[in-house]
Amino acid sequence: MTRRGDRVARPNVGAAQSGQGGYAFRSYKLRRGYACALPLLAGFALIIQAGCTRRVAPPVAPIPTERLTEPARKPFAVRTLIHKDVDSIEIQVRGYWSMKQDGTELLLKRGKDLKETAEPSGAGIRLGDQRLPAANLRIESEGDRIVSVKGSNYHGSVILCRTAGGGLDVINECDPEAYVRSTLPAEMSPSWPEEALYAQAVALRSYVVYYIRSKAEAGHHLSGISAAYRGMSRESRRTNHATFDTRGMVLVWKDNYFPAYFHSTCAGHTADCSVVFSIASLPPLEGRRCPFCHNSPHSSWKGVSVARAELVEKLKADGVNVKDIESIRTAGAKGGDFHPGEVIINGSIRMNANRFRLLVGAAKLKSAAFDAKISGDKVVFSGKGWGHGVGLCQFGAKEMAQSGYNWKQILAFYYPEARLLKLYDDPDEATLHPPKS
Ligand SMILES: [Zn+2]
Repeated sequence: MTRRGDRVARPNVGAAQSGQGGYAFRSYKLRRGYACALPLLAGFALIIQAGCTRRVAPPVAPIPTERLTEPARKPFAVRTLIHKDVDSIEIQVRGYWSMKQDGTELLLKRGKDLKETAEPSGAGIRLGDQRLPAANLRIESEGDRIVSVKGSNYHGSVILCRTAGGGLDVINECDPEAYVRSTLPAEMSPSWPEEALYAQAVALRSYVVYYIRSKAEAGHHLSGISAAYRGMSRESRRTNHATFDTRGMVLVWKDNYFPAYFHSTCAGHTADCSVVFSIASLPPLEGRRCPFCHNSPHSSWKGVSVARAELVEKLKADGVNVKDIESIRTAGAKGGDFHPGEVIINGSIRMNANRFRLLVGAAKLKSAAFDAKISGDKVVFSGKGWGHGVGLCQFGAKEMAQSGYNWKQILAFYYPEARLLKLYDDPDEATLHPPKS
Protein backbone atom coordinates (compact mmCIF):
# COMPACT_ATOMS: atom_id res chain seq x y z
CA MET A 1 0.00 0.00 0.00
CA THR A 2 1.35 3.39 -0.93
CA ARG A 3 1.10 6.05 1.72
CA ARG A 4 0.74 9.72 0.99
CA GLY A 5 4.18 11.27 1.08
CA ASP A 6 6.00 8.08 0.19
CA ARG A 7 8.83 8.64 -2.16
CA VAL A 8 7.86 6.94 -5.34
CA ALA A 9 10.71 4.64 -6.23
CA ARG A 10 8.80 1.40 -6.25
CA PRO A 11 8.82 0.00 -9.74
CA ASN A 12 10.69 -2.98 -8.36
CA VAL A 13 7.40 -3.97 -6.73
CA GLY A 14 5.74 -3.85 -10.12
CA ALA A 15 8.64 -5.67 -11.74
CA ALA A 16 8.38 -8.44 -9.18
CA GLN A 17 4.67 -8.75 -9.75
CA SER A 18 4.82 -8.54 -13.45
CA GLY A 19 7.55 -11.06 -14.01
CA GLN A 20 10.45 -10.39 -16.30
CA GLY A 21 11.61 -7.17 -17.75
CA GLY A 22 11.83 -4.93 -14.70
CA TYR A 23 15.59 -4.94 -14.24
CA ALA A 24 16.58 -1.89 -16.22
CA PHE A 25 13.96 0.23 -14.55
CA ARG A 26 14.84 -1.15 -11.13
CA SER A 27 18.54 -0.46 -11.46
CA TYR A 28 17.78 3.05 -12.67
CA LYS A 29 15.73 3.69 -9.58
CA LEU A 30 18.44 2.27 -7.33
CA ARG A 31 21.00 4.51 -8.93
CA ARG A 32 18.74 7.47 -8.38
CA GLY A 33 18.28 6.50 -4.73
CA TYR A 34 22.02 6.11 -4.28
CA ALA A 35 22.64 9.55 -5.71
CA CYS A 36 20.23 10.95 -3.17
CA ALA A 37 22.03 9.27 -0.30
CA LEU A 38 25.41 10.84 -1.09
CA PRO A 39 25.00 14.60 -0.73
CA LEU A 40 28.38 16.30 -1.03
CA LEU A 41 27.17 19.75 -0.13
CA ALA A 42 24.26 20.72 2.04
CA GLY A 43 22.71 22.89 -0.65
CA PHE A 44 23.37 20.31 -3.31
CA ALA A 45 21.81 17.71 -1.07
CA LEU A 46 18.72 19.82 -0.68
CA ILE A 47 18.42 20.19 -4.43
CA ILE A 48 18.88 16.48 -4.97
CA GLN A 49 16.47 15.68 -2.18
CA ALA A 50 13.91 18.04 -3.66
CA GLY A 51 14.42 16.32 -6.99
CA CYS A 52 13.84 12.93 -5.43
CA THR A 53 10.69 13.86 -3.60
CA ARG A 54 9.23 16.05 -6.31
CA ARG A 55 6.96 13.32 -7.52
CA VAL A 56 4.74 12.44 -4.62
CA ALA A 57 2.34 9.71 -5.52
CA PRO A 58 -1.16 9.72 -4.17
CA PRO A 59 -2.05 6.35 -2.66
CA VAL A 60 -3.27 3.71 -5.06
CA ALA A 61 -3.72 0.17 -3.82
CA PRO A 62 -2.78 -2.38 -6.48
CA ILE A 63 -5.72 -4.15 -8.00
CA PRO A 64 -6.23 -7.57 -6.38
CA THR A 65 -5.75 -10.66 -8.50
CA GLU A 66 -7.89 -13.75 -8.44
CA ARG A 67 -7.59 -16.99 -10.31
CA LEU A 68 -10.51 -18.52 -12.07
CA THR A 69 -11.26 -21.88 -10.54
CA GLU A 70 -14.21 -23.04 -12.58
CA PRO A 71 -13.82 -24.57 -16.00
CA ALA A 72 -15.03 -22.49 -18.88
CA ARG A 73 -16.46 -23.16 -22.31
CA LYS A 74 -15.15 -23.14 -25.84
CA PRO A 75 -14.74 -21.70 -28.34
CA PHE A 76 -12.59 -18.87 -27.21
CA ALA A 77 -11.57 -16.79 -30.18
CA VAL A 78 -12.09 -13.23 -31.30
CA ARG A 79 -13.50 -12.48 -34.72
CA THR A 80 -12.57 -9.12 -36.21
CA LEU A 81 -14.05 -7.68 -39.38
CA ILE A 82 -10.97 -6.48 -41.29
CA HIS A 83 -12.49 -5.71 -44.73
CA LYS A 84 -16.16 -4.96 -45.24
CA ASP A 85 -18.23 -5.88 -48.30
CA VAL A 86 -15.35 -5.88 -50.80
CA ASP A 87 -15.54 -7.03 -54.43
CA SER A 88 -12.30 -8.99 -54.23
CA ILE A 89 -9.42 -9.61 -51.84
CA GLU A 90 -5.96 -11.12 -52.12
CA ILE A 91 -5.22 -14.07 -49.84
CA GLN A 92 -1.81 -15.65 -49.28
CA VAL A 93 -0.64 -18.58 -47.14
CA ARG A 94 2.90 -19.93 -47.06
CA GLY A 95 3.18 -23.69 -46.63
CA TYR A 96 0.26 -26.09 -46.26
CA TRP A 97 -3.23 -24.64 -45.98
CA SER A 98 -6.77 -25.89 -45.81
CA MET A 99 -10.18 -24.51 -46.67
CA LYS A 100 -13.31 -25.48 -44.81
CA GLN A 101 -16.89 -24.40 -44.81
CA ASP A 102 -16.95 -22.10 -41.79
CA GLY A 103 -18.64 -23.60 -38.76
CA THR A 104 -18.03 -27.16 -39.98
CA GLU A 105 -15.11 -29.54 -40.39
CA LEU A 106 -16.07 -30.08 -44.01
CA LEU A 107 -12.77 -29.89 -45.90
CA LEU A 108 -13.27 -28.25 -49.30
CA LYS A 109 -9.71 -27.96 -50.42
CA ARG A 110 -6.14 -28.37 -49.24
CA GLY A 111 -2.85 -27.41 -50.78
CA LYS A 112 0.56 -25.78 -50.45
CA ASP A 113 1.52 -22.13 -50.96
CA LEU A 114 -1.66 -20.25 -51.71
CA LYS A 115 -1.68 -16.86 -53.41
CA GLU A 116 -5.01 -16.08 -55.03
CA THR A 117 -7.65 -13.40 -55.36
CA ALA A 118 -10.99 -14.26 -53.76
CA GLU A 119 -14.24 -12.88 -55.14
CA PRO A 120 -17.96 -13.63 -55.00
CA SER A 121 -19.23 -16.10 -57.57
CA GLY A 122 -22.86 -17.17 -57.81
CA ALA A 123 -23.91 -18.19 -54.32
CA GLY A 124 -20.34 -19.21 -53.49
CA ILE A 125 -16.81 -17.84 -53.57
CA ARG A 126 -14.25 -18.04 -56.34
CA LEU A 127 -10.60 -18.37 -55.42
CA GLY A 128 -8.42 -18.04 -58.50
CA ASP A 129 -9.92 -20.47 -61.02
CA GLN A 130 -11.62 -22.59 -58.33
CA ARG A 131 -15.27 -21.98 -57.54
CA LEU A 132 -16.17 -23.16 -54.04
CA PRO A 133 -19.82 -23.81 -53.17
CA ALA A 134 -19.72 -22.16 -49.75
CA ALA A 135 -21.05 -18.79 -48.67
CA ASN A 136 -18.70 -18.83 -45.68
CA LEU A 137 -15.20 -20.08 -46.26
CA ARG A 138 -12.49 -20.53 -43.63
CA ILE A 139 -8.87 -20.49 -44.77
CA GLU A 140 -6.16 -21.52 -42.37
CA SER A 141 -2.49 -22.27 -42.37
CA GLU A 142 -1.43 -25.68 -41.15
CA GLY A 143 2.08 -24.44 -40.40
CA ASP A 144 2.79 -21.04 -38.87
CA ARG A 145 -0.90 -20.21 -38.39
CA ILE A 146 -0.49 -16.97 -40.29
CA VAL A 147 -2.67 -15.86 -43.18
CA SER A 148 -1.90 -12.80 -45.28
CA VAL A 149 -4.80 -10.61 -46.46
CA LYS A 150 -4.07 -7.83 -48.94
CA GLY A 151 -0.42 -7.90 -47.90
CA SER A 152 -0.99 -7.80 -44.11
CA ASN A 153 -0.26 -10.83 -41.96
CA TYR A 154 -2.77 -12.05 -39.38
CA HIS A 155 -2.57 -14.72 -36.69
CA GLY A 156 -5.16 -17.47 -36.84
CA SER A 157 -7.51 -18.01 -39.73
CA VAL A 158 -9.41 -15.88 -42.21
CA ILE A 159 -13.11 -16.30 -42.97
CA LEU A 160 -14.67 -15.02 -46.19
CA CYS A 161 -18.42 -14.38 -45.91
CA ARG A 162 -20.83 -13.53 -48.70
CA THR A 163 -22.77 -10.38 -47.85
CA ALA A 164 -26.34 -9.35 -48.62
CA GLY A 165 -24.86 -6.70 -50.89
CA GLY A 166 -23.18 -9.35 -53.05
CA GLY A 167 -19.64 -8.70 -51.81
CA LEU A 168 -17.34 -10.33 -49.28
CA ASP A 169 -16.76 -9.59 -45.62
CA VAL A 170 -13.27 -10.62 -44.55
CA ILE A 171 -13.02 -11.71 -40.92
CA ASN A 172 -9.92 -12.66 -39.00
CA GLU A 173 -10.31 -15.19 -36.19
CA CYS A 174 -7.56 -15.61 -33.62
CA ASP A 175 -7.20 -16.20 -29.91
CA PRO A 176 -7.29 -13.13 -27.64
CA GLU A 177 -3.56 -13.31 -26.89
CA ALA A 178 -2.71 -13.04 -30.59
CA TYR A 179 -5.16 -10.15 -30.92
CA VAL A 180 -3.60 -8.30 -27.97
CA ARG A 181 -0.08 -8.95 -29.29
CA SER A 182 -0.98 -7.41 -32.66
CA THR A 183 -3.04 -4.50 -31.33
CA LEU A 184 -1.04 -3.37 -28.30
CA PRO A 185 1.76 -1.64 -30.27
CA ALA A 186 -0.84 0.20 -32.34
CA GLU A 187 -2.57 1.47 -29.21
CA MET A 188 0.53 2.40 -27.19
CA SER A 189 4.07 3.09 -28.33
CA PRO A 190 6.37 0.11 -27.62
CA SER A 191 8.92 2.62 -26.29
CA TRP A 192 6.66 3.61 -23.38
CA PRO A 193 7.35 2.35 -19.82
CA GLU A 194 6.65 -1.32 -19.41
CA GLU A 195 4.24 -0.84 -16.49
CA ALA A 196 2.04 1.28 -18.79
CA LEU A 197 2.28 -1.37 -21.52
CA TYR A 198 1.26 -4.08 -19.05
CA ALA A 199 -1.77 -2.03 -17.93
CA GLN A 200 -2.77 -1.37 -21.54
CA ALA A 201 -2.41 -5.07 -22.41
CA VAL A 202 -4.82 -6.05 -19.62
CA ALA A 203 -7.29 -3.30 -20.55
CA LEU A 204 -7.20 -4.38 -24.18
CA ARG A 205 -7.72 -8.06 -23.34
CA SER A 206 -10.61 -7.16 -21.01
CA TYR A 207 -12.22 -5.17 -23.80
CA VAL A 208 -11.83 -8.06 -26.24
CA VAL A 209 -13.12 -10.71 -23.84
CA TYR A 210 -16.16 -8.57 -23.06
CA TYR A 211 -17.04 -8.45 -26.75
CA ILE A 212 -16.39 -12.17 -27.26
CA ARG A 213 -18.95 -12.85 -24.56
CA SER A 214 -21.49 -10.13 -25.30
CA LYS A 215 -21.57 -10.81 -29.05
CA ALA A 216 -21.16 -14.56 -28.83
CA GLU A 217 -23.58 -15.34 -31.65
CA ALA A 218 -22.58 -12.51 -33.97
CA GLY A 219 -20.63 -12.99 -37.21
CA HIS A 220 -17.86 -10.90 -35.72
CA HIS A 221 -17.11 -9.37 -32.33
CA LEU A 222 -15.06 -6.35 -33.33
CA SER A 223 -14.26 -4.35 -36.41
CA GLY A 224 -10.85 -3.08 -37.40
CA ILE A 225 -11.74 0.37 -36.07
CA SER A 226 -12.90 -0.84 -32.63
CA ALA A 227 -9.27 -0.88 -31.69
CA ALA A 228 -6.35 -0.16 -33.96
CA TYR A 229 -6.14 -3.70 -35.36
CA ARG A 230 -3.83 -3.90 -38.35
CA GLY A 231 -2.56 -7.44 -38.13
CA MET A 232 0.96 -8.35 -37.10
CA SER A 233 2.87 -5.54 -38.79
CA ARG A 234 3.68 -3.52 -35.66
CA GLU A 235 4.43 -6.29 -33.19
CA SER A 236 7.53 -5.66 -31.10
CA ARG A 237 9.56 -7.39 -28.42
CA ARG A 238 8.47 -5.08 -25.57
CA THR A 239 4.76 -5.25 -26.33
CA ASN A 240 4.98 -9.02 -26.90
CA HIS A 241 6.51 -9.34 -23.41
CA ALA A 242 3.75 -7.19 -21.90
CA THR A 243 1.17 -9.43 -23.55
CA PHE A 244 2.86 -12.68 -22.52
CA ASP A 245 3.50 -11.64 -18.91
CA THR A 246 -0.16 -10.67 -18.40
CA ARG A 247 -1.62 -13.53 -20.46
CA GLY A 248 -5.10 -14.57 -19.50
CA MET A 249 -5.61 -11.60 -17.17
CA VAL A 250 -8.77 -9.53 -17.49
CA LEU A 251 -10.63 -6.98 -15.42
CA VAL A 252 -14.04 -7.82 -14.06
CA TRP A 253 -16.53 -5.96 -11.96
CA LYS A 254 -18.80 -7.95 -9.65
CA ASP A 255 -18.61 -11.17 -11.66
CA ASN A 256 -19.16 -9.33 -14.92
CA TYR A 257 -16.86 -8.64 -17.77
CA PHE A 258 -17.00 -5.04 -18.86
CA PRO A 259 -15.54 -3.11 -21.81
CA ALA A 260 -12.41 -1.63 -20.25
CA TYR A 261 -12.34 1.41 -22.50
CA PHE A 262 -9.14 3.40 -22.98
CA HIS A 263 -8.17 6.57 -24.79
CA SER A 264 -5.19 8.83 -25.37
CA THR A 265 -5.61 11.83 -23.06
CA CYS A 266 -8.47 12.70 -20.69
CA ALA A 267 -7.05 16.20 -19.96
CA GLY A 268 -7.76 16.14 -16.23
CA HIS A 269 -10.83 13.98 -15.67
CA THR A 270 -11.89 10.68 -17.21
CA ALA A 271 -15.44 10.53 -18.50
CA ASP A 272 -18.48 8.59 -17.34
CA CYS A 273 -19.40 5.88 -19.85
CA SER A 274 -23.10 6.66 -19.36
CA VAL A 275 -22.53 10.24 -20.52
CA VAL A 276 -20.32 9.38 -23.51
CA PHE A 277 -21.91 6.17 -24.79
CA SER A 278 -25.42 6.45 -23.31
CA ILE A 279 -25.02 3.06 -21.63
CA ALA A 280 -25.59 2.09 -18.00
CA SER A 281 -22.93 3.43 -15.71
CA LEU A 282 -20.75 1.16 -13.58
CA PRO A 283 -18.15 2.10 -10.96
CA PRO A 284 -15.00 1.23 -12.97
CA LEU A 285 -16.18 3.49 -15.80
CA GLU A 286 -17.78 6.36 -13.89
CA GLY A 287 -14.86 8.71 -14.42
CA ARG A 288 -12.45 10.29 -11.97
CA ARG A 289 -10.03 13.15 -11.67
CA CYS A 290 -6.75 12.36 -13.45
CA PRO A 291 -3.75 14.42 -12.32
CA PHE A 292 -1.31 12.51 -14.53
CA CYS A 293 -1.80 13.57 -18.15
CA HIS A 294 -1.06 17.29 -18.06
CA ASN A 295 2.19 16.71 -19.97
CA SER A 296 0.36 15.12 -22.87
CA PRO A 297 0.75 17.01 -26.17
CA HIS A 298 -3.03 16.57 -26.54
CA SER A 299 -3.97 18.22 -23.22
CA SER A 300 -5.28 21.20 -25.13
CA TRP A 301 -5.56 22.12 -28.79
CA LYS A 302 -7.02 24.91 -30.85
CA GLY A 303 -7.48 26.27 -34.35
CA VAL A 304 -9.08 23.16 -35.83
CA SER A 305 -11.24 24.48 -38.64
CA VAL A 306 -13.87 22.65 -40.62
CA ALA A 307 -15.83 24.18 -43.50
CA ARG A 308 -19.48 24.76 -42.59
CA ALA A 309 -20.56 23.18 -45.88
CA GLU A 310 -18.45 20.06 -45.16
CA LEU A 311 -20.00 19.73 -41.73
CA VAL A 312 -23.50 20.07 -43.19
CA GLU A 313 -22.75 17.29 -45.69
CA LYS A 314 -21.38 14.98 -42.98
CA LEU A 315 -24.40 15.61 -40.76
CA LYS A 316 -26.81 14.97 -43.62
CA ALA A 317 -25.03 11.74 -44.52
CA ASP A 318 -25.56 10.67 -40.91
CA GLY A 319 -29.28 11.42 -41.12
CA VAL A 320 -29.24 14.82 -39.40
CA ASN A 321 -31.43 17.28 -41.26
CA VAL A 322 -29.57 20.59 -41.26
CA LYS A 323 -29.20 23.32 -43.91
CA ASP A 324 -26.41 25.42 -42.42
CA ILE A 325 -24.37 25.67 -39.22
CA GLU A 326 -25.22 28.76 -37.18
CA SER A 327 -24.00 27.62 -33.78
CA ILE A 328 -22.55 24.56 -32.05
CA ARG A 329 -22.29 24.06 -28.33
CA THR A 330 -21.89 21.13 -25.98
CA ALA A 331 -24.00 20.10 -22.99
CA GLY A 332 -24.59 17.30 -20.54
CA ALA A 333 -21.27 17.08 -18.70
CA LYS A 334 -21.67 15.37 -15.35
CA GLY A 335 -20.27 16.13 -11.90
CA GLY A 336 -16.71 17.44 -11.91
CA ASP A 337 -16.08 16.24 -15.44
CA PHE A 338 -16.15 18.36 -18.57
CA HIS A 339 -16.75 15.65 -21.21
CA PRO A 340 -20.16 16.46 -22.68
CA GLY A 341 -22.92 14.01 -23.52
CA GLU A 342 -24.51 16.12 -26.24
CA VAL A 343 -23.74 18.52 -29.00
CA ILE A 344 -26.46 21.09 -29.75
CA ILE A 345 -26.46 22.45 -33.29
CA ASN A 346 -28.31 25.67 -34.16
CA GLY A 347 -29.84 25.75 -30.69
CA SER A 348 -32.21 22.84 -31.24
CA ILE A 349 -30.63 19.83 -32.98
CA ARG A 350 -29.21 17.49 -30.37
CA MET A 351 -26.91 14.57 -30.99
CA ASN A 352 -24.54 12.37 -29.00
CA ALA A 353 -21.27 14.27 -28.56
CA ASN A 354 -19.04 11.25 -29.21
CA ARG A 355 -20.96 10.47 -32.39
CA PHE A 356 -20.43 14.06 -33.51
CA ARG A 357 -16.69 13.77 -32.80
CA LEU A 358 -16.39 10.62 -34.89
CA LEU A 359 -18.50 12.14 -37.63
CA VAL A 360 -16.12 15.08 -37.98
CA GLY A 361 -13.16 12.69 -37.75
CA ALA A 362 -11.43 11.37 -34.62
CA ALA A 363 -8.01 12.56 -35.81
CA LYS A 364 -9.30 16.05 -36.61
CA LEU A 365 -11.73 16.74 -33.78
CA LYS A 366 -9.70 15.06 -31.06
CA SER A 367 -12.26 15.35 -28.30
CA ALA A 368 -15.89 16.26 -27.72
CA ALA A 369 -14.74 18.58 -24.93
CA PHE A 370 -14.58 21.57 -27.27
CA ASP A 371 -15.68 25.14 -27.88
CA ALA A 372 -16.81 26.00 -31.39
CA LYS A 373 -16.86 29.42 -33.01
CA ILE A 374 -18.30 30.32 -36.39
CA SER A 375 -15.74 32.24 -38.43
CA GLY A 376 -16.92 33.09 -41.95
CA ASP A 377 -17.57 29.87 -43.84
CA LYS A 378 -15.72 27.79 -41.23
CA VAL A 379 -16.32 26.40 -37.78
CA VAL A 380 -13.21 26.70 -35.62
CA PHE A 381 -12.83 24.25 -32.73
CA SER A 382 -10.60 24.42 -29.67
CA GLY A 383 -10.65 21.88 -26.87
CA LYS A 384 -8.82 19.50 -24.60
CA GLY A 385 -7.89 15.83 -24.57
CA TRP A 386 -7.88 13.15 -27.26
CA GLY A 387 -10.39 10.35 -27.43
CA HIS A 388 -13.72 9.62 -25.78
CA GLY A 389 -12.25 10.05 -22.30
CA VAL A 390 -13.64 6.83 -20.75
CA GLY A 391 -11.48 4.38 -18.78
CA LEU A 392 -7.69 4.29 -18.91
CA CYS A 393 -5.99 7.53 -19.93
CA GLN A 394 -2.90 6.40 -21.86
CA PHE A 395 -0.78 9.50 -21.28
CA GLY A 396 -1.82 9.35 -17.62
CA ALA A 397 -0.76 5.70 -17.44
CA LYS A 398 2.59 6.64 -18.97
CA GLU A 399 3.14 9.35 -16.36
CA MET A 400 2.05 7.01 -13.55
CA ALA A 401 4.56 4.40 -14.74
CA GLN A 402 7.31 7.02 -14.92
CA SER A 403 6.41 8.08 -11.38
CA GLY A 404 6.90 4.55 -10.09
CA TYR A 405 3.43 3.07 -10.04
CA ASN A 406 3.15 -0.52 -11.18
CA TRP A 407 0.62 -1.78 -13.69
CA LYS A 408 -1.80 -3.10 -11.08
CA GLN A 409 -1.88 0.31 -9.41
CA ILE A 410 -2.45 1.96 -12.77
CA LEU A 411 -5.41 -0.33 -13.45
CA ALA A 412 -6.77 0.21 -9.94
CA PHE A 413 -6.60 3.95 -10.46
CA TYR A 414 -8.37 4.06 -13.81
CA TYR A 415 -10.89 1.27 -13.16
CA PRO A 416 -11.97 1.72 -9.52
CA GLU A 417 -13.57 -1.33 -7.88
CA ALA A 418 -12.54 -3.66 -10.71
CA ARG A 419 -10.89 -6.98 -9.94
CA LEU A 420 -8.19 -8.71 -11.92
CA LEU A 421 -9.01 -12.25 -12.96
CA LYS A 422 -6.62 -14.83 -14.39
CA LEU A 423 -8.70 -16.68 -16.96
CA TYR A 424 -6.09 -19.03 -18.38
CA ASP A 425 -2.43 -19.65 -19.02
CA ASP A 426 -2.89 -21.04 -22.49
CA PRO A 427 -5.68 -19.69 -24.70
CA ASP A 428 -5.79 -22.96 -26.64
CA GLU A 429 -6.91 -24.70 -23.49
CA ALA A 430 -8.99 -21.81 -22.32
CA THR A 431 -12.63 -21.45 -22.23
CA LEU A 432 -14.64 -18.69 -20.81
CA HIS A 433 -17.09 -19.12 -18.14
CA PRO A 434 -18.03 -17.21 -15.10
CA PRO A 435 -18.78 -13.54 -15.52
CA LYS A 436 -22.24 -13.13 -16.86
CA SER A 437 -21.94 -10.60 -19.67
ZN1 LIG B 1 -5.70 11.79 -17.94
